[in-house]
Amino acid sequence: MDCAKLFRVKPGSKVKLTDWDPSVTHGFKDKDAAKAELAENVDKLEHLQTMLYAEGRRSLLLVLQGMDTSGKDGTVRHVFSGLNPTGVEVTSFGKPTERELDHDFLWRIHARTPRRGMIGVFNRSHYEDVLVVRVANLQPKAVWSERYDQINDFETMLTENGTTILKCFLHISKDEQRTRLQERLKDPEKNWKFQPGDLAVRKQWDAYQAAYEDALGKCSTPHAPWHIIPANNKWFRNLAVSELLVQTLEAMKCELPKASAEVLKLKVE
Ligand code: ADP
Repeated sequence: MDCAKLFRVKPGSKVKLTDWDPSVTHGFKDKDAAKAELAENVDKLEHLQTMLYAEGRRSLLLVLQGMDTSGKDGTVRHVFSGLNPTGVEVTSFGKPTERELDHDFLWRIHARTPRRGMIGVFNRSHYEDVLVVRVANLQPKAVWSERYDQINDFETMLTENGTTILKCFLHISKDEQRTRLQERLKDPEKNWKFQPGDLAVRKQWDAYQAAYEDALGKCSTPHAPWHIIPANNKWFRNLAVSELLVQTLEAMKCELPKASAEVLKLKVE
C-alpha cells in the first residue's frame, strides 16, 4: 500500500471529511486477507524498533486522534503487540490537571515526547487543545485559533531535533460509532468503557468533525503530516497504521553503531 498517497493530507489543503470514506479497505477483502500482512508488519516493526533503539540518535512519535470508539487503544494493542516494551512509551492525555493548566498547553506534551532511540505513542495529544477546547468552549477563540501555528512551530522544533512525527486520525462514521457505543452498553465485558459523557460529545459530532477538518488541514506539514485512516473496519485500521509505521521507520534508515577499532581488538577470555 502506498500509505503516503492513500492517507496523507496534502500540506496546505482544505480537508472535507465527507470526501474520505471511512469504510474503504483498498483491495483487502476481509480480516483474513489482511492477517498475514499485519503479522508480517508486526515482525518488521520489531526489527526496525531494535535498529532505532540501537542507533540511539533519533526517535519516532506516533500521534493518534479520533472520536470516541475510533480505536485508539485497540490500535496500540494490535500494532505494538510484538515490540520490545522497553523501547515504546505510550502516553494517554486526559483532562489537564490544575498544575498543567498553570503552564502553556504544550508543557505537558513536551515532557512526554520520546527520547532518542524510543518510539512514543500519544493516545490523544496537544490536538485536544484545538478540538475539545474549541468545541466545548474551554478557551475563547482568540486563544485556540493561535494554536495551529504554535503546534506547527513546536512540531518543527521536535523534527529538527531528531524526532520523526507521524500523525493518524482514525476516521469512523457516525453510524459506526453508534454500533460501537451500543456494544459497550450491551456487553458486560465492555461496560467499563462506556461513559455517559460520550453521548454528549456524540451530540456535537458535526462540530467535532469541523474542528478535526481544521486541525488536519492547518497542521499537516511536510515534516509532520496527518494521515486519515479509514477506521470503520478495525482490521484495516490496524493494517494501515502498521504499514505506515513500517514505511516511516524504513525511510529513517537506522544504522547499528559501529564498534570502535579498540573494541574490535578486545578478547573475551
Ligand atoms: P479516552 O476517552 O481517550 O479513552 P478518557 O476517558 O480518559 O480516555 O478521556 C480523556 C478525556 O480527556 C477526553 O474527554 C478528552 O477530550 C479530554 N481531554 C484531553 N485533553 C484535553 C485538554 N487539553 N483539555 C480538555 N480536555 C482534554
